[in-house]
Amino acid sequence: MVVVMTSEATAEEVEAVVRTVEAAGGDAFVSRGVHRTIVGLVGDVERFETLNLAALPGVSDVVRISSAYKLVSRENHPETSTVTVAGVPIGPDTFTLIAGPCAVETEEQTIAAAEMAKAAGAVLLRGGAFKPRTSPYAFQGLGEAGLKILAEAREKTGLPVVTEVVDAADVPLVADYADMLQIGTRNMQNFALLQAVGSIGKPVMLKRGLNATIEEWLMAAEYIAQRGNLDIVLCERGIRTFETAYRNTLDVSAVPVVHSLSHLPVMVDPSHAGGKRELVVPLARAAIAVGADAIMVDLHPEPGAALCDGPQALVDVDLEALTKAVREMPPMLGRRVVTIEG
Ligand code: PEP
Ligand code: MN
Repeated sequence: MVVVMTSEATAEEVEAVVRTVEAAGGDAFVSRGVHRTIVGLVGDVERFETLNLAALPGVSDVVRISSAYKLVSRENHPETSTVTVAGVPIGPDTFTLIAGPCAVETEEQTIAAAEMAKAAGAVLLRGGAFKPRTSPYAFQGLGEAGLKILAEAREKTGLPVVTEVVDAADVPLVADYADMLQIGTRNMQNFALLQAVGSIGKPVMLKRGLNATIEEWLMAAEYIAQRGNLDIVLCERGIRTFETAYRNTLDVSAVPVVHSLSHLPVMVDPSHAGGKRELVVPLARAAIAVGADAIMVDLHPEPGAALCDGPQALVDVDLEALTKAVREMPPMLGRRVVTIEG
């Protein structure tokens, strides 16, 4: 059982919940987030039912959910949530395009990529300053210098910024620059990192682990929610299968399945799924068709010179096809395409 406190709940009101639970022989674990405090209860649930915790001052909700993940489950919250990133919605009524270079390499390359993203209809700019690379010899990103370039690109284009954080110790630094924090596939079960982003007041994009089941993915989201941050968007980016003809297998089924299990928005990254430029637009169309709330694509002004993931980066001609799909398909499914105007 989980007790969600109102955003105005005082420390005394939280303490009163803890004392009531402990007096009934249970344990209460308090997680104080920026937006809300969550109290997790361990012990005899039937006994807790008799305590009428919902009536205590400062309590907003008492969640009695049998599934392993509670705060992110649809059972807890029947309406699909909308996550707003610096004014840009990601949710059930809209469709949001996110685009940018896989890695921030130089100021010139990033600004050029941001202009390409904006021209293609993207409303959020994504670029990596901290890159989780398979090889320790590969380009690891520019770090804080990259975050500064992203902030400059936001200034020039007006596009809010999404960027990855790979280490719990870097969360405050990255949150100072970013409008949304990305947790990459390799870190989906880095629990210290999940708790750190759960304690910060910025939306989080949680990518699915390379070989994570949907339940493991939702449990990872629960780690973030349990720290008080429910502004989470789940991102399907392909899973590892026996197939070697492309990089990963985009699990299109995950989109409607996760929508049925969770109230969180679900998006797709077709670039990291296919790993090849020619697959990105077809996979993006598939993502829109199965009900993704957003997609995120890699692009680059000069993919041949890219320091990371050049083969999957879109160039102008592919972006035209992508823009067409993004303008035309979501309205057929009852969604409004989010534009820079709103
Ligand atoms: C990325 O988005 O740049 C990235 C590294 O993706 P993933 O974590 O999905 O591999
Ligand atoms: Mn990449």
